[in-house]
Amino acid sequence: MNLNRLPKILQHVHLDGSVRIETANELLNKDVSSEMMIDENCKSLSDYLTKFKIPISLMQTKDNLIRVSYELGIDLLNQNVIYVEVRFCPLFHINEGLSLEEVVDSILKGLNQSGIKFNLILCMMREFSYEKNKQIINLANKYLNKGVCAIDLAGDEGSYPTKNYRNLFELASSLNIPFTIHAGEADGCESISSAIEFGAKRIGHGVRTIEYIDLINEIREKNITLEVCPTSNIDTMVYSNYKEHPIKKLYDLGVKVTINTDNNTVSNISLNKEYEKLKNVFNFKVSDFIKMNIDAINSCFISDKEKKELILKYRKEVQNEGFNYGS
Ligand SMILES: [Zn+2]
Repeated sequence: MNLNRLPKILQHVHLDGSVRIETANELLNKDVSSEMMIDENCKSLSDYLTKFKIPISLMQTKDNLIRVSYELGIDLLNQNVIYVEVRFCPLFHINEGLSLEEVVDSILKGLNQSGIKFNLILCMMREFSYEKNKQIINLANKYLNKGVCAIDLAGDEGSYPTKNYRNLFELASSLNIPFTIHAGEADGCESISSAIEFGAKRIGHGVRTIEYIDLINEIREKNITLEVCPTSNIDTMVYSNYKEHPIKKLYDLGVKVTINTDNNTVSNISLNKEYEKLKNVFNFKVSDFIKMNIDAINSCFISDKEKKELILKYRKEVQNEGFNYGS
């Protein structure tokens, strides 16, 4: 069973964490691979986050933003990703004078050029002030349904608790801007509970839900989907190895989980590799992966009409590629 051609939906991927190494090397005219990928010295999410410095330094011009977005689109099309929600923090890309709109327009342009079907998720950051994050909400409001589909809260969850961001999500809700929240990765129960309380329909990671039976029940009842990124969780030491990861347990308990890479370059992972690992370690079958992808479509930040069309397209692609629902 070769999963490379299985059609896939990708809900959780950071553009800055997925810049091709060759592109960075070429633009900087030196080998920066060790500064962009994690190694055995990575002990936490805070360490992991240092690997974004180089790519962010490069993503400050229209040309570079268009290029890295285009290349991500191509890399994902090659893995038969039929729809992706790409996320990034626009405020990271204005250090050399670009406006927030120019940042978004450039990324839209690059992804459009690649030909992939996509939407953007704009990330607010935990370390930013309320006012700065409000700028992201206003930007999302401006581009909503014009290439942007939602906002997110990213950054160091261990140092900045989710509960402190209530005002931002109240504002987003009042503007009908959908959102997902990174929670239940570096922090546990309290963080996930806050995300649910704020009204998140999707949670980035959320894997530590497994530690709390009440939360498992609540997540099932409220039909919340977890954007699971197994390799990333091992890189940030949430789990010591792949076998310890709770994705299979969550899935067996009826929690909706989707498969994601988080940061293709920082974690040195592709979506295909992630599927292969899950198949080998947990014995997931093609039918499980198909279910997870249909669940993914149903929890994507798109209209009901688009969901229906995407499910039809997904099923057709499964057939065209010769995959069998029963296998
Ligand atoms: Zn993430």
